[in-house]
Amino acid sequence: ISDEKKPDKWIFSTCGYCGVGCGLYIGVKDGKAVYTKGNPKHFVNQGTLCPKGLSEHQMINSPHRIATPMIRKDGELQSASWEEAFGKVSSEFKRIQKEHGNKAVAVIGTGQFLTEEFYTLGKFVQLGLRTNNYDGNTTLCMASAVMGYKQSLGSDGPVGSYEDFEKADTIFLIGANIADNHPILTLHINKNKREKKKVIVIDPRASKTSQMADVYIPVKPRTDLALFNGLAYIILEQGWENEGYIAANTTGIKELRKHLQNYPPQEVANITGIDVKTLYELAREFVSQERVLSAWTMGVNQSFMGTDTVSSIINLHLLTGHIGREGTGPFSITGQCNAMGTRETGFTSSLPGYRNFGDEKALKEYASIVNVPEEIIPRERGYKYAEIIDAIDRGEIKALWITATNPLVSFVNQKKLRKILAKLDLLVAQDAFLGDTAQIADVIFAAATWGEKEGVYTNSERRCNKANKAVEPYGESKSDFDIILEFSKYFEGVNEMFFPNWHEPRDAFEEWRKVSKGQLCDYSGITYELLEEHGGIQWPCNEQFPLGSKRLYTEDIPFRTVDKKAKLLSLEWHPMLEPVSPEFPVILNTGRTVEQWHTRTKTRSIEILDNLAPEAWVDVNPSDAKKLQVKSGDRMSLSSPRGRVDNVIVRVTGSVRQGTVFVPFHFNEQLVNTLTQDSFCPKSGEPNFKQTAIQLHSEAVP
Ligand code: SF4
Repeated sequence: ISDEKKPDKWIFSTCGYCGVGCGLYIGVKDGKAVYTKGNPKHFVNQGTLCPKGLSEHQMINSPHRIATPMIRKDGELQSASWEEAFGKVSSEFKRIQKEHGNKAVAVIGTGQFLTEEFYTLGKFVQLGLRTNNYDGNTTLCMASAVMGYKQSLGSDGPVGSYEDFEKADTIFLIGANIADNHPILTLHINKNKREKKKVIVIDPRASKTSQMADVYIPVKPRTDLALFNGLAYIILEQGWENEGYIAANTTGIKELRKHLQNYPPQEVANITGIDVKTLYELAREFVSQERVLSAWTMGVNQSFMGTDTVSSIINLHLLTGHIGREGTGPFSITGQCNAMGTRETGFTSSLPGYRNFGDEKALKEYASIVNVPEEIIPRERGYKYAEIIDAIDRGEIKALWITATNPLVSFVNQKKLRKILAKLDLLVAQDAFLGDTAQIADVIFAAATWGEKEGVYTNSERRCNKANKAVEPYGESKSDFDIILEFSKYFEGVNEMFFPNWHEPRDAFEEWRKVSKGQLCDYSGITYELLEEHGGIQWPCNEQFPLGSKRLYTEDIPFRTVDKKAKLLSLEWHPMLEPVSPEFPVILNTGRTVEQWHTRTKTRSIEILDNLAPEAWVDVNPSDAKKLQVKSGDRMSLSSPRGRVDNVIVRVTGSVRQGTVFVPFHFNEQLVNTLTQDSFCPKSGEPNFKQTAIQLHSEAVP
């Protein structure tokens, strides 16, 4: 760095993009963020950062930042004071709740907040506003992992550590393109020096990650559950299961054994496209190695069978005893920087601390810790994300408050969504950037972003990391914590009852430490000071584990089911919901690229990222390209029963199977979620983003 550009100070922090959770320093000069560099002492990234992390300071200075609160007047969004914005939204919420009931107000949150902000928002919405129609955009990416863990192991919570990638003999990467989506995680695989180390990638698409594999398994789209049932069949057929582990730690083996008779190898080979010999080799790999780790992301989760597919992976680990030991475990890699924070604290899929809705004992315990009347705590989960959208369509929900998320790029079936959102009496967007959804809002709460506020993020390996404030919030924007706290004062008695003497994020964190004490996600031993000293701590962290725990379900940490045994579940595979047809003969797969972040609200104005990935593209198999008479660099259109996307640049590549294409979902100019179907996993509510029957048109526009 030249002397002229040299920062005056370096602020210890954590990356605010993905769930890997890299430690970094923000360089500040003259009150402006001017540099980002990796923290060489941080276990997660050891000084390295991906392109997004390296340019993260530029996001703070984006021209798309929102400087002041805004209110729509005469059809235009106009700057307003905080008093006007809070006054308008609070009076509308009160009117709507009086006329239509408390639940007519709904909130869709994010995985981008700090944990203190999640906890404060959840408490305000569920206890203060008394509506349980509250969910997060994490339902678009992680909900199936949450529900899979819950139904198999009794609680949510990724089981392992990044260290397990360094210590495993065999690593299965399932529907997980970590080279693009969790790039720094590859560091831990590269550090693995085990003699028998083998990386097996299971994915219908030969993504960048498959290039680091020893074995690539090109499973047919959405047949993964059948594949894992088939492997379980072979393990039991061959007597390869770990009988001792199963007897001591699980229930359901008898039922599973019977159920799997529907998944003999030849049948599974027909479904998955993986030949019988390979199926036996894969099953053998699971049992012949001492340490087997499976990691998955959206390829598994974003499915109408997402929850059960997660459980089918867990089944394999329970059958073989590959769990709770170094280098083993079924490991869900999270997407966003603090998806874990919302899962643990946020009142969405459970009450704070993974307490189950409907568990009266847990509810009473929570009420007594935070000193609120038991009767105001919801007994059941409200609507999930997609159910909130449906309830708006029906006229049941009249006001929607969206925080740090952009459904008008990220949700399925965009044309339908846009029509539904237009039915709202009030749409409030709390955001740092004027994204697509904020642009149609009635009121905007101008939020500070990463680097402008303080708190903690928890990454995929349950490591709580400190993120610090380096610069003042842009314009008149406020931290999300301050927004929620100040907004709560517009509702009589709410601030006093739920946030007594709360002034800073630390106040929320201290309550969260008490609330989580004794739960699986126990933060009681974690302090801000310890986090900076140790570069992150993995929960549970308490008197028993003063510096945290590397993995769950060891001898010291039992499963969270009533009988403390994990469940071997009998799970059914189903064919695609929307099969290909003569009219729509191609399967569309969507995903991400390393250079952009989600809907690009944060990354689109970062020059280097925009230069690297300026627009969407469509990957087309060479034989399909030949039939369509298109070549790399041409432009084409895609259509489904729900709409059409034009002017997408073609990339001819063997990385996609014949009859399938891949398009990244980041780009609002080529909005691929125009095509995707609104069908969901019934258990998790996660959309089935990955398989849409479409037609390709060799002309770029009609
Ligand atoms: Fe940030 Fe994820 Fe990149 Fe690490 S891998 S620098 S956490 S975006």
